[in-house]
Amino acid sequence: MILPAVIGLSMFGGAVHGALHRNSFIFGPALGRLPTREREVALTFDDGPNPNATPRILDTLRDLGVKATFFILGRHAELWPKLVLRVAKEGHQLGNHGYFHRKLHLKSPFYVKRDLTLGKRAIERAAGTSPQFFRAPHGFRSPWVTAIAAAMGQRTIGWSLGVWDSDRPGVDYIAARTIDGTRPGSIVLLHDGDGYNADGDRTQTAAALPRIIAGLRDRGYEFVTLPGK
Ligand SMILES: [Zn+2]
Repeated sequence: MILPAVIGLSMFGGAVHGALHRNSFIFGPALGRLPTREREVALTFDDGPNPNATPRILDTLRDLGVKATFFILGRHAELWPKLVLRVAKEGHQLGNHGYFHRKLHLKSPFYVKRDLTLGKRAIERAAGTSPQFFRAPHGFRSPWVTAIAAAMGQRTIGWSLGVWDSDRPGVDYIAARTIDGTRPGSIVLLHDGDGYNADGDRTQTAAALPRIIAGLRDRGYEFVTLPGK
């Protein structure tokens, strides 16, 4: 009776790891890095739009000629639809980050489908176009999260480098950690919004962005967007 118990335990362990690891293949593929060995990097911004940070970030991206991907929270898209429209109009990629920003790994298929549908709908109403990508809040998934996103035409994306800019550690730290941590093919996770506070302060990220772009270009990096399906 010991062996089945061990197998059961290790399967449970595998399932927990699969749910909690943002790039895990156990619960369906999530793109955790770009398929390249070149010095290419993709910038992604989660939890926006946000009235203080998103316009500054868009200004910087436009002025420096960089395209990025925005994983938009449906709740915030409804508050600031014009910012979502601006993201789309300026040629950035749209990603669905769900509506409520709850961790999805223990939620039912019904809950997940509703959360993703509401998020998608809010983005479509604001931008007039559909999100092509999905990122789970905190990267937490379950066996059905990626399948539900795929059925909506959204590729699930993880990340290679979490900067923890949401802890607001200071502009110097955010810039240095991003520049030092980037490798060829990195997908960098930054935040233009706060998943738990619609007016959350993301001005440190906005202030760090010009230095991040200049610093990575100095190291020979080119900015690219995410590959589709
Ligand atoms: Zn988030």
